[in-house]
Amino acid sequence: MPELAEVEYYRRRWDCALGQRISAVAAHAEKRVFRSISTRRWTELLRGSILHSSEARGKLMLFRLSNKLWLGLHLGMTGELRVERPDFKPAKHDHLVLYQNARTLVFSDPRLFGRIRIHQGEVAPAWWSSLPPSLLSKEFTPARMAGFLHRHRRLPIKATLLLQSGFPGVGNWMADEILWRARVHPRTLSGALEEDRQRILWRAIRLVARGAMKHISPDFSDPPRGWFFNERWGNGGKCPVHGVALARDSISGRTTVWCSRCQP
Ligand SMILES: [Zn+2]
Repeated sequence: MPELAEVEYYRRRWDCALGQRISAVAAHAEKRVFRSISTRRWTELLRGSILHSSEARGKLMLFRLSNKLWLGLHLGMTGELRVERPDFKPAKHDHLVLYQNARTLVFSDPRLFGRIRIHQGEVAPAWWSSLPPSLLSKEFTPARMAGFLHRHRRLPIKATLLLQSGFPGVGNWMADEILWRARVHPRTLSGALEEDRQRILWRAIRLVARGAMKHISPDFSDPPRGWFFNERWGNGGKCPVHGVALARDSISGRTTVWCSRCQP
């Protein structure tokens, strides 16, 4: 599932299309990625509009277009953005296809957990403006995080970190990386973290978010050696610090990997 930096990687793929007009639109109107949108109307509005800018927050991407259009794309589990040749013919999973003179922009999603939203208006729609602050913004403060942990104090910290309303963009691997770096056991109750441990957790969140953006977003590279990321897939991973075999179990329904020595 795409997390913070992978979403950013896909968003950038369409950068080549900024400033260019959309000449035609093809959409699989009946697919559930379009739930609650009347696609015929939006197809007409998108056609002829110019792609102005884009931005990602957590797992949601926003594309701003002329005609006061706001296009929101969520990749779900399996969504991706691609750029194809101008004469591209959409395949089964290509649910939204925007043609420009020089290229074709494609949103595809085989498993249909993604979502396409469109809005027309002067101000940002609520699905965008009501998003929680990004992990790398100055609004994401230790105090804000502490309040969120308190509201979810009975949840294991692993499950709380996956809540997009508090930690936008954090998915399974990022949560495990953060907890390993903060030396917090993933089953620790969110309300049981002392203030100094919360500080350490907050710093680990910033470090992992910044590092993921730096290493993954430009070209989908893996993070460098020493990251927990490189050890957590499959069986047989070892702690980058201790070299001991990692523990692995399901916590709140998600596969979780940790080092029993780093995270007692
Ligand atoms: Zn360790």
